Amino acid sequence: MLRQILLYLSRAGWARNVAVNWRLAQRVARRFVAGETLEDAVRVVRELNGRGILATLDCLGESVKNVEDTQVVVNAYQTTLNRIHTEKLQSSVSLKLTHLGLDISEDLCIANLRHILGTAKQNGIQLTIDMEDSSYTDTTLRIYRTLRDEYEFDNVGTVIQAYLRRSEADMQQLAAEGAHVRLCKGAYLEPPEVAFAHKSEVDANFIKLTRQFLSANGTSYLAIATHDEKMISAAEEFIEQNQVPADRYEFQMLYGIRAERQADLAAKGFKMRVYVPFGEAWYPYFMRRLAERPANVWFFIRSIFQR
Ligand SMILES: Cc1cc2nc3c(=O)[nH]c(=O)nc-3n(C[C@H](O)[C@H](O)[C@H](O)COP(=O)(O)OP(=O)(O)OC[C@H]3O[C@@H](n4cnc5c(N)ncnc54)[C@H](O)[C@@H]3O)c2cc1C
Repeated sequence: MLRQILLYLSRAGWARNVAVNWRLAQRVARRFVAGETLEDAVRVVRELNGRGILATLDCLGESVKNVEDTQVVVNAYQTTLNRIHTEKLQSSVSLKLTHLGLDISEDLCIANLRHILGTAKQNGIQLTIDMEDSSYTDTTLRIYRTLRDEYEFDNVGTVIQAYLRRSEADMQQLAAEGAHVRLCKGAYLEPPEVAFAHKSEVDANFIKLTRQFLSANGTSYLAIATHDEKMISAAEEFIEQNQVPADRYEFQMLYGIRAERQADLAAKGFKMRVYVPFGEAWYPYFMRRLAERPANVWFFIRSIFQR
């Protein structure tokens, strides 16, 4: 119930207007967001890289409704990619298609993505297309496949959500294509017709999809994106038992969550990447993080009363 309310609020304009002007909310959001500027993000990436951890930088934002605003987003990604290149940061980038104008037009979104991919390819930097709610799944996979083939660039990847009932079929197809896939549980509010309603079903599907994908022959690559100890241990065990080569997978977590486990996986020699979001449009991202863990909401409420 709490999760549903928080995910509803993550999309409510009135709630966003209240939160973004509220100092305390900004301060609590900083736990999950590197900061508002590229400088803040670069500082975090340098620190992670110094501890043997890779990063993926996300310029925060989604659901952009004006064509001119999408140009600002393209510029922000190009500046970020150039900075990664000139500073030799160990970082990829992640982006959302509605940030590039998918809600305005698919052609505009593809044109914007082409500009960013051109710069990424030139600099040899990986790019992952995040997955949004299920109304975008088909379009996201279509755009991913079109641009991946157009750029003959195997550094483009996308995301599959274990909570979706369709994901097993999608993963099988993507494995056969040699795709780079990030597998996560899924962060949006979905109806039971399209998504498993119970955590136990989502968890079982996550483990099943991890095993199936890592068992596929070929060049496919899996980013195991979770903070859930059960998911991580199951993956570690499968990798060890089946001697899965290290160039077929990595672990990923979000900035601000389970930093000690991130360090532990890196120390064990696993490739570990942290998703580092930055920018002013932190509100929906922050609300999805609160929705994932009620303890974060209590932490927020406690902060209000401690003031
Ligand atoms: C690198 C990365 C990229 C992602 N990209 C996408 C994407 O493109 N599309 C999408 O829909 N979702 C994305 N997600 C979010 C994902 O779908 C989940 O919502 C999120 O990872 C929480 O699920 P979990 O696997 O950690 O397991 P959960 O069952 O949610 O949590 C398991 C345990 O992890 C810890 N934990 C989880 N979340 C938090 C938190 N917010 N704060 C503190 N502790 C926490 C707690 O100990 C919790 O008990 C991404 C996640 C990661 C790690």
